[in-house]
Amino acid sequence: MSFSPLLKQLIEAFRVLPGVGPKSAQRMAFYLLERDREGGQRLAHLLTQAIKQVGQCEHCRILCEKPVCAICDNKNRDRSLLCVVQGPAHVAAIEQTGGYPGLYFVLQGHLSPIDGRGPKEIGIDAFVRRISTNTVKEVVLATNSTVEGEATAYYIADLVKSHNIKVTRIAHGVPMGGELEYIDGGTLAKALLDRTLV
Ligand SMILES: [Zn+2]
Repeated sequence: MSFSPLLKQLIEAFRVLPGVGPKSAQRMAFYLLERDREGGQRLAHLLTQAIKQVGQCEHCRILCEKPVCAICDNKNRDRSLLCVVQGPAHVAAIEQTGGYPGLYFVLQGHLSPIDGRGPKEIGIDAFVRRISTNTVKEVVLATNSTVEGEATAYYIADLVKSHNIKVTRIAHGVPMGGELEYIDGGTLAKALLDRTLV
């Protein structure tokens, strides 16, 4: 089946989204044109607006349309505590717990020398500027517990220590409500290593 030139371009354009192949792209394009042109219009409008206006907070690099985000601007947050995460979605996850009082620094992913992603690419320059302001007393490393996330955490830990700032890593272990026999060996081993005094 051959589509008109504009339809072809639209289907192709949907494929910029992660995980969207030719079939899903077709389905999305047809859905909007056949069933929800109004929704498509809204999507197009908001995409244009967001791409023009959404930038990064100059302190933590969360995506937002103001120079400084609402978290960094909140006077009630503990400015001595800085949590390092690998992406904006991780800030949202921690915020949802409602239990973290400090501020954040969002990296552009993790270190990956093989893919040419070194300290500069993930934003370490800006991080060093951030911890050099003397307000940060503790850095909490909340990068993923993957090999790359751990390597990134080690790298940053060294850096933070060289500035004489306390550095901590979020604990990994047995999930709440988890039964030991269903937990993978790696997680259980780490939980045993990181045991705490009760
Ligand atoms: Zn911010």
